[in-house]
Amino acid sequence: MDQLVVAKFGGTSMADATAMLRSAKVSRDHKAKVIVVSATSGTTNQLLDLASMAVKGSWEECEKIIVAIESKHHLIASELKLKPEQLKIVDQLLSEMSTLARGINLLRECSPRAKDQIQSIGERLSSVLFTTAVQTIFEDETKAAWLDVRSVLITDSQHGKAVPNIIKIANKCKKLLPNLRSEDTVYITQGFIGKDELGLTTTLGRGGSDYSATLIGEGIGADLVQIWTDVAGIATTDPRICPNAQPIDVISFKEAAELAVFGAKVLHPTTLSPALRANIAVFVGSSYEAEAKGTWIRKSSDATPLVRAMAIKRDQALLTITTPKMMNAYGFLANIFNAFALHKVSVDAITTSEISVSMTVDAATAHHKELLHDLKRFGDVALEEKQALVSLIGNNINHTPGLGSRIFKALADINVRMVCQGASKHNFCFLVNDNEGPEAIKRLHHEFIERQL
Ligand code: ADP
Ligand code: ASP
Ligand code: MG
Repeated sequence: MDQLVVAKFGGTSMADATAMLRSAKVSRDHKAKVIVVSATSGTTNQLLDLASMAVKGSWEECEKIIVAIESKHHLIASELKLKPEQLKIVDQLLSEMSTLARGINLLRECSPRAKDQIQSIGERLSSVLFTTAVQTIFEDETKAAWLDVRSVLITDSQHGKAVPNIIKIANKCKKLLPNLRSEDTVYITQGFIGKDELGLTTTLGRGGSDYSATLIGEGIGADLVQIWTDVAGIATTDPRICPNAQPIDVISFKEAAELAVFGAKVLHPTTLSPALRANIAVFVGSSYEAEAKGTWIRKSSDATPLVRAMAIKRDQALLTITTPKMMNAYGFLANIFNAFALHKVSVDAITTSEISVSMTVDAATAHHKELLHDLKRFGDVALEEKQALVSLIGNNINHTPGLGSRIFKALADINVRMVCQGASKHNFCFLVNDNEGPEAIKRLHHEFIERQL
């Protein structure tokens, strides 16, 4: 029996009619049954700009963005020769977008709900257009059906970073997509968006379409999830920072998850959790170069290099809480982390000393007034912004003598603000000034990857 395959295409794979037809061919050649798509390249950013311009009250600027989004999607629609009934859906979505922007503009306020609703237009538009691309490319006997992902991807109501309800997603998939393996239909659906219990549109966080693909894969019991993007798989670091980044053929789930969580944009941080739970193989490849090797993410890989890859998470803040009360006390850290839990804020790296504890958070968290107010009850709170978290990802990292000295020798004059090592055998991370982050990556890449070639 054929494998059940979910294929996900990111924004650049949806950039224009040519990219859509190319991605449709990749879906056909790689036997995709469910296709999850992102908004066309740049559209989510434009929708967010639209919402913020509407809040600022500059409707003229809003109109410019609306026209840009409309013309981009109309051009693709005409090049793909959309049928009138599908063109009508595109126009309905564009008119929903203008109405939402007008509403936000009149109120001069964009609630998290409104923000999710307006962002959802991007994926809803691209998926309608891509359905025609699939109809054009697939064999005549295969039907291409558009699916509103909100009928299956049920989440909680945390707009902007909604948490999926795995059991409900599985139930909805069973009910709405029961015969995927036997039927001759290919479903085209949206990444990034979901629906809460109230029936309101939610989003999974920026870059969330990768996560949608593995969640759907888990829901339908897929054998394989393919992530098609603009690079031929996962590389030893971001090729935009190091053009010498080397392709990785096979990587373990654990290493790939560390890379994703610690900033490698090629995968949304939580992409691999559903795949790991449901034991689904994941492949990352380029829709522009589908014949290239790409990267397989598997339970384990034969090669276990000390340093497999490095990642950078930019625009981080370091939060330090200092108090003499911490000395010889217990329960202090528990109280601090309770405050983080209460405000649903996640921490990446932590270090402690006798009287202080430091942790890295996303820059936006640094302005979370309620959290900072609560933390001030425990001691003095200091905030250092514009930091970058640099990570080395590999194997046996916490049991290899000499690794630290190689890292610090390579960094030489770059000031290292905080170091986290020992908790995982797969990760060594440290904080540097944000503007020195890319240089730190280049030097580490030279030391651990290029010099070994
Ligand atoms: P998509 O729109 O397809 O989701 P993204 O822009 O989100 O694509 O992710 C692909 C980008 O991730 C690449 O263009 C590359 O710059 C970046 N990237 C960061 N780290 C890595 C890495 N280790 N390997 C490959 N790409 C990486
Ligand atoms: N379109 C969304 C974004 O730009 C989701 C995604 O592309 O994965 O963040
Ligand atoms: Mg992405």
